[in-house]
Amino acid sequence: MTKDRKLIIAGNWKMNKTVGEALDLVTGLKRELANVKELDLLVAPPFTALSEVSKAILDSNIRLGAQNMSEHNFGAHTGEICASMLKEFSVRYVILGHSERRQYQKEANDLIARKAQAAHAASLKPIVCIGELLEERNAGHTERVLETQLRGSLAGLTPEQIEETIVAYEPVWAIGTGVTAKTDQAQSAHAFVRQILASLAGEAVAKRVRIQYGGSVKGGNARELMSQPDVDGALVGGAALELRSFTEIVKNSI
Ligand code: PEP
Repeated sequence: MTKDRKLIIAGNWKMNKTVGEALDLVTGLKRELANVKELDLLVAPPFTALSEVSKAILDSNIRLGAQNMSEHNFGAHTGEICASMLKEFSVRYVILGHSERRQYQKEANDLIARKAQAAHAASLKPIVCIGELLEERNAGHTERVLETQLRGSLAGLTPEQIEETIVAYEPVWAIGTGVTAKTDQAQSAHAFVRQILASLAGEAVAKRVRIQYGGSVKGGNARELMSQPDVDGALVGGAALELRSFTEIVKNSI
């Protein structure tokens, strides 16, 4: 399959894996995926494992992501981690506005936008997550929700920064549920997202932005999802925690 945009597959480990478990998994991934050049690969371990995983993937084709960061650069923000701290471990990507953070930490679009601005200022690539709830989809509000989240979460970014941003479309009803969006649902949401990106940053930029799909991606559905014209990769939760299932997703996406 050929596409102008290079696919990007990311594993979001969430609040899982001790340092030892993280090292076991990443050692296996390095071995199994050593020859993968066709797509960008990254893992986002918990903060506590970043240091060791960072050392373990030196000289490999696996890049490092964080699952969140502060919108501030330093100071009295107990419990927070800022961009420069992530950069100490060669983190390249940071997941922002995941639906779990929107839901449980009440993160709103304006906060996510400030985090995305801080990420770009530090040359980290944000993976900005958006997605509708089941009630919103059933009420016919999917596009309205996606547009509000996207415009709000990318506010203040320049077209150049938008080009370096990855958008993850993750329908909340598909996250961790085993229910994957149908390929036509995913494609039409991604095409809509690209249309909004064009209105924010111009057609040429919108064509270059990578839009990942997330929500119960598995080896069995990866190929079909990745073959959609506007699907440029996957953000994987549950299936990223096991060597075999993540490896299968990557291999089936090539
Ligand atoms: C996620 O949390 O971003 C996710 C896509 O999870 P899962 O793959 O488990 O649905």
